[in-house]
Amino acid sequence: MENQIRVRFAPSPTGYLHVGGLRTALYNYLFAKHHGGKFILRIEDTDQSRKVEGAVENLIETLKWAGIEYDEGPDRGGSAGPYIQSQRLDLYRAHAQELVNQGHAYHCFCTTARLQEVRQKQLAAKLSTSYDRHCRSLSREEAERRIASGEKSVIRMKIPLDGELSFEDVIRGSVTISYKMIDDQVLIKSDGYPTYHLAVVVDDHLMGITHVIRGEEWLSSVPKHILLYRYFGWEAPVLAHLPLLLNPDKSKLSKRQGDVAVEDYRTKGYLKEAMVNFIAFLGWNPGDEREIFFMDQLSQEFSLDRVGKSGAVFNIEKLNWLNQQHIKLKSNEELARLIKPLMLSGQSADRDDQYFLKVVGLLKERLNFPNDFIEMSGYFFQDPDSFDDAGVKKYWEPETSGRLKLLADRFESLPEYSHSAIESALRQCADELQIKPTKLIHPARLALSGRTIGPGLFEMLELLGKESVVRRLRGAAEKFKGV
Ligand code: GLU
Repeated sequence: MENQIRVRFAPSPTGYLHVGGLRTALYNYLFAKHHGGKFILRIEDTDQSRKVEGAVENLIETLKWAGIEYDEGPDRGGSAGPYIQSQRLDLYRAHAQELVNQGHAYHCFCTTARLQEVRQKQLAAKLSTSYDRHCRSLSREEAERRIASGEKSVIRMKIPLDGELSFEDVIRGSVTISYKMIDDQVLIKSDGYPTYHLAVVVDDHLMGITHVIRGEEWLSSVPKHILLYRYFGWEAPVLAHLPLLLNPDKSKLSKRQGDVAVEDYRTKGYLKEAMVNFIAFLGWNPGDEREIFFMDQLSQEFSLDRVGKSGAVFNIEKLNWLNQQHIKLKSNEELARLIKPLMLSGQSADRDDQYFLKVVGLLKERLNFPNDFIEMSGYFFQDPDSFDDAGVKKYWEPETSGRLKLLADRFESLPEYSHSAIESALRQCADELQIKPTKLIHPARLALSGRTIGPGLFEMLELLGKESVVRRLRGAAEKFKGV
């Protein structure tokens, strides 16, 4: 298909997937889905010094967790592969050579020592630091002679000495940069590897990328890329640079103010649905008040027109809130599937799945994280062995033990032990004792769960079952009778 949209996520495998990376991946994915295009994963591993073992696998695993599926990529194949830059070195070298042949690039033999010296002088003179283009004027013959004699070199692109370059960015509008601001960028390093700038242009072109959607930090590289497109005689893709991610104090999002690795959020128990929903809103919005979105809706509604220019604040409270909302939206079965692996074996082993599902349903509203269930649910699986001291002090009166014993007797003799029967038995009991129902409700909750807060008492009583309710009421009545 000639006009098919093709976008890519092109991370460097330098460790974990950053939340900013997740946003870039997500926006590309949503854009592709929205337009029926293709989304490609390309691994940019040409900086050998920054390579981290296992980073690619980790990245792929994290994208899969988030539900961001790519159509072409290292482990999926595709007609534009290979999708790992270190496997495409010949392509970059051939293209760099083409630029040298056409006079758009040149070999540079300057040693690190010389480059440092130039830099020091520029710093001392309070000039901006850049390569002084020492080798730009070498003749082709001389360069070839030095290469043949084994001298090490890099290949640099020629930036025009005067003038300026303008380009359009879908998000930022029209941008103009003077060539004076741009260095004669290295394209091929002395180890034979390309730099990011060459590799990204060659690959975006050869992979048929139609739109480049990425973080704002790459905006300043665009002029070099556009020049390269011109030198090669290629059409540049449409560009969209996403706004910066900010800490709540509006500084650039940093590790110091919170986690930036997606896997940290995953480990903490954030649902992928909440994470995706949250990340989608870091720069985009649907144009109305709606806040809860699933992946499908996002891909239906996503458009670059609704991505803003100004920095997007990473607000953890918003993420926490979304996490709660998405937990509530899960079916009991789905939530149970997330919770079960977190529980110690045996913790719920003596109960059947139906019971477990009901406990999940009852506590769902109260969970911030799936993990909270473990701490909150203990008494559904075992009689409580500790009781909230302050609660006992507050709610246990001299008469309480006697009242709970009466209540236990009433429950025991109920022919049908249902929510409504339990509730009317308790209210009737309170009437007879001439006390407010809360005089029974609070101590009963304590007796049953050891706590002062929890789900609705009558639902809890029903779910725990008659036998254990009666046992616990009598047990607590006995335990605290002298209080
Ligand atoms: N490899 C770059 C990165 O790590 C990709 C930049 C781009 O998308 O062009 O973010």
